[in-house]
Amino acid sequence: MEDIIVVGAGPAGSRVAAALAQKGHRVKVLEEHGRAGEAVCCTGIVGSECYADLGGEASVLRSARSVTFVSPSGHIVRLEKDSPQAYVLDRPSLDIMLAEKAASYGADFVYDCHVEKAARTNSHIEVRTVRRGRAEVHAARGLVLASGPSSRLTSSLGLGELGDFAVGAQTEIEVEGIAEVEVRFSNELAPGFFTWVVPTTGKRALVGMICREKPRSHFKAFLSRLEREGRIKSTECMVQARKIPLRPLDRTYGDHIVAVGDAAGQVKPTTGGGIYYGLLCADAAADVLDRALRAGDLSKRMLSTYESRWRKTLGSELRMGYLCRMAFERLGDRTIDALFEAVQANSIDRIALNSRAFSFDWHGGILGRAINHPAIWKLLGTTVLGLLSGKGGNPLAAECLVTVKGRLRAEPLTPPSECAMQS
Ligand SMILES: Cc1cc2nc3c(=O)[nH]c(=O)nc-3n(C[C@H](O)[C@H](O)[C@H](O)COP(=O)(O)OP(=O)(O)OC[C@H]3O[C@@H](n4cnc5c(N)ncnc54)[C@H](O)[C@@H]3O)c2cc1C
Repeated sequence: MEDIIVVGAGPAGSRVAAALAQKGHRVKVLEEHGRAGEAVCCTGIVGSECYADLGGEASVLRSARSVTFVSPSGHIVRLEKDSPQAYVLDRPSLDIMLAEKAASYGADFVYDCHVEKAARTNSHIEVRTVRRGRAEVHAARGLVLASGPSSRLTSSLGLGELGDFAVGAQTEIEVEGIAEVEVRFSNELAPGFFTWVVPTTGKRALVGMICREKPRSHFKAFLSRLEREGRIKSTECMVQARKIPLRPLDRTYGDHIVAVGDAAGQVKPTTGGGIYYGLLCADAAADVLDRALRAGDLSKRMLSTYESRWRKTLGSELRMGYLCRMAFERLGDRTIDALFEAVQANSIDRIALNSRAFSFDWHGGILGRAINHPAIWKLLGTTVLGLLSGKGGNPLAAECLVTVKGRLRAEPLTPPSECAMQS
């Protein structure tokens, strides 16, 4: 019997596997694809904090120290720093690197191995798989569900289901005249979300978008727009699409089980980025599982520490991000244009850039400060208050209340000067 079975050789799964194998535990990773990094659908952008966390071992396609935001009617806000703020990682290579690292510590990777079902017995977990047409059974003292956003395993094991999703669609294509990361906001192209063009190498770029539904038709419309602008030669390309969870599971642990990464919904609700949060939560999971294995106690009570650990780090960030996501999805293009104008007229972009709260990975601080700016509050106040008082029609908003009230109290609603955003 293994100590731990990990389902999924994505970043979160391989990271847990590496940490536990390094500590001497017997770890088996079951992955349905033929190798790590196969069939990923991801732009691979991470902040400098995540890049440093990876120890510079990830393969970088490009670093980015600037970004251009484009409003629905074409207003531009450009942010630029002296040093790289983000790195475009070669995502398949990242997955391979993390899996090889885990294997080098002794984790056993089984590929082409689809996990169909997992069940608890009194003392351990039994995992039923199909590998190249053959049914197999694996047993372990504990199970890590790192099986991404579409897995049904969390609900079948009593951890419930991810409650809110968007869909991301992406292709890699040659693009003319876009030298830096470009993010566009337009309800016509990406209702409630945004599109992106991320240059990689030479003229190649990752072109993508997020929306709630009909990703392929929205994506086609975006490509047609780029074609009309002379940015791309043809809209013919291979499009990948994948779910993006926007809220975490209510509970990410159970007897003998934890869920990490996209499977647990540990994703930034603002952008849908999940690599770094998945890695942070994987570290917390590995640490708690290590103690549990040594203590011979993988009970729900013991593993609950995992949940309190990751929520302490990410909980308020996720709540604040989700509130902003819900508010943003209620804005029409005119209001988004007005927000761009307000940002420019009040130098909020410059103030944000110089604020210590500015971070690629942690958005809550800067969002709280931005919402508190009188010019922004004038445009967003009614929507935010509507959500907080439940008038927005989304009962989930109530959960954001505590965090947001706390933040708004800490950073008063009517800071008079532009210094309000400086921390
Ligand atoms: C278009 C798009 C762009 C994105 N861009 C970014 C970005 O720039 N930066 C960022 O941080 N995030 C980005 N994300 C999100 C990011 O891709 C995910 O957050 C990240 O991949 C989550 O990692 P994970 O290890 O939790 O899950 P995954 O990477 O999904 O890995 C899960 C693994 O489990 C395997 N698996 C699933 N079910 C089973 C089963 N039953 N049996 C065996 N194996 C199974 C899968 O094959 C997969 O290998 C993007 C997402 C999309 C859709």
